[in-house]
This record gives sequence, C-alpha cells and structure tokens, in this order.
Amino acid sequence: QEKQRIQVLLQQAIINEELYLLYQPQVSLHNNNIVGCEALVRWKPKGEAEISPNEFIPIAEESGQIDALGEWVLKEVCQQIAQWNQLIDFKDVKISINVSVRQLTTDKFRSTLIKQLEIHDISPKQIEIEVTETAMSTNYDKLVEELEKIHQLGVYISMDDFGTGHASLDNLRKLPLDKLKIDRSFIQDIGIDQCDEDITKVIITIAKKMSLELVAEGVETIEQLAFLSGEDCDNIQGYYFSKPITAEQLLSYLQDNENLFEDKFDSYHLYLEQQDSA
Ligand code: C2E
Ligand code: MG
Ligand code: MG
Repeated sequence: QEKQRIQVLLQQAIINEELYLLYQPQVSLHNNNIVGCEALVRWKPKGEAEISPNEFIPIAEESGQIDALGEWVLKEVCQQIAQWNQLIDFKDVKISINVSVRQLTTDKFRSTLIKQLEIHDISPKQIEIEVTETAMSTNYDKLVEELEKIHQLGVYISMDDFGTGHASLDNLRKLPLDKLKIDRSFIQDIGIDQCDEDITKVIITIAKKMSLELVAEGVETIEQLAFLSGEDCDNIQGYYFSKPITAEQLLSYLQDNENLFEDKFDSYHLYLEQQDSA
C-alpha cells in the first residue's frame, strides 16, 4: 500500500515542483580542493514530510517513473551548470549525476544528454555519470554499449557503491570506467572492523591497478580520513567535509575553493601529529 501511495504521489511530483537537488562536494586529497560534486535528488510532497531517495528511487525504478524523474534531474543539473558557467570558472569540477541502469538501457538518456549539452553550451567534461553496481546484472550488454557511447562524448563514468553489488571483476574490466566509489558501508567500520579495512585496501589496490580514480563515500571522522589518506585514496565525499548543500551554497564554496576546508585539514594534521607523538 505504501508503495502504491508513493507511486501515486510521484506522478504529481514533477508537475507540482516538489523535487529539488542538493550537491555534495568531493574533496581531493592531492590539492585539498573541491574537484567534484554529486547531485542528489530530494522530494518533499505537498503537505507531507520529505521522503528519502533510498525509499522512492527503488519504487520509481520498479514502476518506470525513474525515466521521467531521471530526465528531470539531468535537465535540472545542466541548467544549473549553465547558470554557474555564467558566474564562475569551475571547469575542473565535475558534477556527477546518479543514473539508473534502467535509464541507460534505452537511447533516450543519451539523446537527452546530448541535447542538453548543446542547448546550454556545456562541455561534456563537466559531467560525470554514476552507475550503481547493485543493478549491474540486468541487460548488461546494452548497458556497456550505451556507457561506451556516452564515454566517447567525453563524459566521465563512475561506478557507485562499489563492493556491495553484482559487478564481477570481469564486468569491471569491460565497462568504460574512469572512477570507483567505495561504498559507505566499508568506510563506516574503519577503526572498528579489521575486515572492512582490509576490503577497503583491496578496493583501493584494484582501482590503482586499473588506473581508476577513487572516491570514498560517507567519510565522517578524522580516523576514517587518516586511514584513507594513508592508503592513498584520491578523493573524499562525506559529512567530515560537507553534507549535501544547496546550489547557492555550492556556488559560494566554489568561489572560495582555494583553502575552503583549511580548518578541517588543520584539525586533521593536528590529529596526525598527536598520533605520531603518542
Ligand atoms: P548514493 O549515490 O550512494 O549517494 C550517497 C548517499 O550517501 C546520499 O544519500 C548522501 O546524502 C549520503 N551521504 C553522503 N555522505 C554521507 C556521510 O558522511 N554519512 C552518511 N550517513 N551519509 C552520507 P541520499 O542523498 O539519501 O541518496 C541515497 C541514494 O539515492 C543515492 O545513493 C543514490 O543511489 C540514490 N539517488 C539520489 N539521487 C538520485 C538521482 O537523482 N537519481 C537516481 N537514479 N538515484 C538517486
Ligand atoms: Mg551516487
Ligand atoms: Mg554511493
């Protein structure tokens, strides 16, 4: 019943303008700057409390509503990038979009993407697509074909939630990937569970061997940051640096990108010194 209720509400979500996007920064451990931002959809149905994407995205995928929702997200992100391009030079920062595998098994996503890039005069290099590993098993050949065409445009491709789903190492080898995102479930047990630490190290090694850029998701603590930095992880996404923020907030972050997280890195270096002397 709850699923049906959500499906009915979702039908009105776009028309009623109930959807909006937040952006979560990804911080490079090589230069301490924001190098990417993930667009995350939010939904507040009229007269109701917010519903989490963890709840409504799987329902929308099942019902097929993800096609319209995903198109809305893509158009919204492109419009936003065009607006930022008028105001600042942030060409080195990629904006990543979560794309459901279902969306990628038709040509519609790619044709809309190409059209949006043209309309808004956006370089494909400003866009990154995140594909979730949990959905890798379905319609695999079509997925590879579409991702290859999108990759050829110059769009960056990243594998989301790596380590939790169905992607075999063989799949990993065949996909045109640029980046791997280590799932939060491994990160959150760093310092607690030796096994999760070991898995994280192995994922980092795989990514390095395959020349893939790495992002660790859900980094909340200095201890997690220290571990990942020690293992030479490239980028960090998580509450330690920033929760998902509005487009306005992100604009001011990007305008101040140099030294933006100086205090966070200062506390981190202080922590390392204390560890050394202990
Ligand atoms: P995801 O793509 O793996 O996104 C990361 C999730 O982790 C986000 O949850 C983010 O808010 C959360 N997160 C980031 N850092 C931290 C942290 O330090 N601690 C904790 N506890 N959480 C953190 P969110 O926004 O609720 O999104 C959930 C999932 O919904 C996403 O997981 C993604 O799979 C899906 N999703 C979100 N937006 C879209 C979209 O536009 N299209 C599609 N197809 N899926 C989306
Ligand atoms: Mg994601
Ligand atoms: Mg993820």
